[in-house]
Amino acid sequence: MARPNLAVVRRTAEWLEVLGDATPDIVLMLREDGEIVFCSMAVQRCLGLQPKQVCGRRLRDRVHPDDHANLDAAVSSWMAGEKDVRVAEIRMMDADGDWLPMEASGRDHSNNPAVGGLVIIVRDVSHRDESSWSLDESHARLVRAARGGSDALWDWDLEADEVHYSERWRELFGLGHADVLPGPTTWLDRIHPEDQSAFQTLLQAHIDGHTEALDHEHRVKGADGRYRWVLVRGLAARDASGKAIRIAGSTIDVSERKLFDPLTRLANRTTFKDTVQHQVDQWHEDPEHLFAVLFLDLDRFKVVNDSLGHSTGDRLLISVARRLETFLRPGDMVARLGGDEFAILLDNLEDSDHAELMASRIQELLSRPIHVGTTEVYSTASVGIALSSKGYSKAADIMRDADTALHRAKQSGRDRHEMFETVMHLETLNHFRLEVDLRRALRRDEFEVHYQPLIDLDTGKLEGFEALCRWVHPERGFVSPMEFIPLAEEVGLIAPIDRFVLGQAAAQARNWQLGHQHSADLAISVNVSSKQFARDDLVAHVERVLEESELDPRSLKLEITESAIMDNPDRAEEILWDLRELGVRLALDDFGTGYSSLGHLHRFPFDVVKIDRSFVSRLGVEEAAWSGRPKQLRRGHRRTRNPEIVRTIVALAKSLEMDVVAEGVETALHLELLRELGCKYGQGWYFAKPLPTDDVERLLVADPSW
Ligand code: C2E
Ligand code: MG
Ligand code: MG
Repeated sequence: MARPNLAVVRRTAEWLEVLGDATPDIVLMLREDGEIVFCSMAVQRCLGLQPKQVCGRRLRDRVHPDDHANLDAAVSSWMAGEKDVRVAEIRMMDADGDWLPMEASGRDHSNNPAVGGLVIIVRDVSHRDESSWSLDESHARLVRAARGGSDALWDWDLEADEVHYSERWRELFGLGHADVLPGPTTWLDRIHPEDQSAFQTLLQAHIDGHTEALDHEHRVKGADGRYRWVLVRGLAARDASGKAIRIAGSTIDVSERKLFDPLTRLANRTTFKDTVQHQVDQWHEDPEHLFAVLFLDLDRFKVVNDSLGHSTGDRLLISVARRLETFLRPGDMVARLGGDEFAILLDNLEDSDHAELMASRIQELLSRPIHVGTTEVYSTASVGIALSSKGYSKAADIMRDADTALHRAKQSGRDRHEMFETVMHLETLNHFRLEVDLRRALRRDEFEVHYQPLIDLDTGKLEGFEALCRWVHPERGFVSPMEFIPLAEEVGLIAPIDRFVLGQAAAQARNWQLGHQHSADLAISVNVSSKQFARDDLVAHVERVLEESELDPRSLKLEITESAIMDNPDRAEEILWDLRELGVRLALDDFGTGYSSLGHLHRFPFDVVKIDRSFVSRLGVEEAAWSGRPKQLRRGHRRTRNPEIVRTIVALAKSLEMDVVAEGVETALHLELLRELGCKYGQGWYFAKPLPTDDVERLLVADPSW
């Protein structure tokens, strides 16, 4: 072997270090005996190891035993004189002992005095989609660098303010073979004006020693005058005092990745958005011109991916991409937005039906089986469509509407398409109609109050009623409060409704107390909307109602939901104490459905906790998990963990001296179990549904007991 030129060796070793550290892939140098003699810093990021933990060891020791054969085959081919050595996928052990999938390839440099072995690039493919570096690219780059600088490399002497550009760099940016070293301005002037300052800032930060490496993507004007995206990575060499004397690195053309999805080679979101923006701008000049943005999502992709593995999932996505491409006409575009979401731009449409027809065709095209290796995969697609005719000025807006329509399509059962315009139009129309009706209902007194009995579970006696609002719509008949209360809250009509119910209920309760001898202590519960609860005038209003109705404050219970409390707990606490001072009682409604925890309960002055119906309805229902147990264990264990929740709430409420009301008591079994659990009160269809006033009158006369 020729005597190595020490200067060359040093220079090459420096380059290796710079480049090795500038790539996210692990760069290894392997001796013929299998020992690792160089390892780049990337090993820390990929495997959580320090280079020194790897150097001096055998590569084989880090590789999964099942993959040894792959590795051995590659090493043998190298021994047999192969220059480019490709290693199939291998799993490597990280610092935690987990196996990570890696892809490796090597290049023989045994004759290079500075290297003297096999240079291997190992790449973490566990996030293959996210990774933007192609193995071949980084491999080739390193090999070329080792050969003496035919990549787009640069070496900037900060003291002399001169930059040495490699052949390739000059080519890329149209510099001639000048002997003089061009200054940094040759380069910096070529950076896109929008990217200049960010890059300069990062560069300065690295020179000043604030960052470990320089790493930035920006646009640079190429030899052809067009901008291309490049990734610039560099590392400063410093003197003993830490001052940077030179900085060297590489410039890689990443335009491809910036514009295309690496897996399917389709346009990516950025490119798609740019194209749509262009269309949107054009539209304003020619509003007759109709185009559509379609968002498409594969209905079964997740199942395929989870059950058949990621590589099958990837291949499915590639097949879908190819199929979608066959569909394109001039001016159309298909892009992958990420995951299993694709977007299509359909240009030159005749009308909205045309867009729907195209959507149906796309769905049909995708519903045909796709062969992935030996497997046949079926996947239907859901599609959301937004049309240019709405007059958008931003690409993001039409894309958002297509996405909304896509979600609607998925919600309404998948394998269908929805047009944003239609969906939204119908929805607003319904909403609007209901609001008009609601306003009319208030004027025409279409609301009624019904009363649901509240029962003392120990004695079976009537304790009071909960007032529940009813809307008798002239055409639709009975409209559920579940529908109109949220709407009323949204459009600001809840206040008059709640006032109406409170006024009616208080007056009614006072009447019943006076008119029936067993009913002197009859209590009435009234719901307070969370919107209403936050209003400043609530306390004053309640006080006024009590005065007008002459109802004893202790007979009035206000039901407040968790959400009203949790929106602003401090303010809630104040209001609750003010109400408490009036003498009214307070109930926490629908307990268990919101976000408050049992631990919160003590903070607020509630007298009653109402256990939400959902807990009660599951009482006595055997859960699937039990069916596998032996019979003798099951006997007498009919009850599952549900009673435990109820039991805990009851116990806690007792310790805080609160009463407990169970909502939704529907069966004798519920009643039996609730009694056993020590729940004091209940309401539900088992006793009675909410009743109109006349029925309540009859009930009070009969004075029943359950
Ligand atoms: P809520 O306050 O939890 O009222 C109990 C709901 O459960 C009532 O529904 C009642 O009819 C229903 N219910 C009672 N027993 C049973 C049963 O055994 N099984 C089943 N499945 N359901 C039962 P409703 O009347 O439809 O009211 C729904 C919700 O609307 C109420 O829940 C309350 O949050 C709200 N609401 C009703 N009236 C008013 C009101 O005047 N003002 C305000 N702000 N909200 C009200
Ligand atoms: Mg209630
Ligand atoms: Mg409730």
